[in-house]
Amino acid sequence: MRFAGKVAVVTGAASGIGKATVLKLAGEGAHVFAADIDEAGGEALAAASNGQIDFVRCDVTRPADIEALMNAAAAKAGGIDIVFNNAGAGGDRAPIDEITPEGWDRTMDLLLKSVAMGIRYASPHMKGRKGASIVNTASVAALGAGYSPTAYAVAKAGVLHLTKVAATDLARYGIRVNAICPGFINTNIFTSSLDVPEESKDAAKAVIAGMSAAAQPVARGGQPEDIANAVAYLAGEDSSFMTGTHLLVDGGLTIGQRHAW
Ligand code: NAD
Repeated sequence: MRFAGKVAVVTGAASGIGKATVLKLAGEGAHVFAADIDEAGGEALAAASNGQIDFVRCDVTRPADIEALMNAAAAKAGGIDIVFNNAGAGGDRAPIDEITPEGWDRTMDLLLKSVAMGIRYASPHMKGRKGASIVNTASVAALGAGYSPTAYAVAKAGVLHLTKVAATDLARYGIRVNAICPGFINTNIFTSSLDVPEESKDAAKAVIAGMSAAAQPVARGGQPEDIANAVAYLAGEDSSFMTGTHLLVDGGLTIGQRHAW
């Protein structure tokens, strides 16, 4: 029960990595405000929790929604201890020689500005809370690895740098800020994203299955719980000497292929 008495906010909470993290934090005692645009998924998570999980509808591309989310959590629970800025989807898939200004902005709003605004509107409620910790979801794409579209990769690289500057800005208040870089994790993101064309969905699934089964040093698909465990480490006191950095949780994807000799 590492998080007993703690108040946590998780975005992108209705599915995948966010949902696994909500269940991990709540399972270890936190009161969790679970935010998402998926009302059915979010409400179901809250309904199954005996009051320990509150669902808040929040579109992270709307700063006013994020501000309202953080204010509501702090008003109900008296402050915020842990924030996981995680919501996301595939973003615009065009290469740099084809991307539109609108596609670029839409991707940055969803994946980078959302994290900046999450930190912006949560941090006033975290000042002076012992062990306050913010975790942001980046990606192996932020490190130049994986098969990620241009705008997605740039937004995620921005999340890593934002993590560093926010960590220095907020150190004076005792708030730590770190990021997580998942490898390929078995979630809905490869198929639910509006930007994945219907005809590509099976191919996307096959690539993911093939990556983990055939090549990756850890020979299994990454699961949302693999990331939730690492987020819980960054959110808790065991990582109290870490700030402004990231954890890479990718089954070895970025170090090269598994080989049999
Ligand atoms: P997922 O599709 O299972 O979950 C994403 C959740 O975010 C969904 O519940 C969705 O409704 C929500 N969401 C989407 N747009 C939103 C918005 N505008 N406002 C609020 N909520 C919104 O996918 P996932 O894999 O769990 O993705 C979570 C994060 O992990 C994303 O930031 C993604 O870029 C990142 N990531 C995933 C992988 C992977 O392999 N799955 C790898 C690296 C990084």
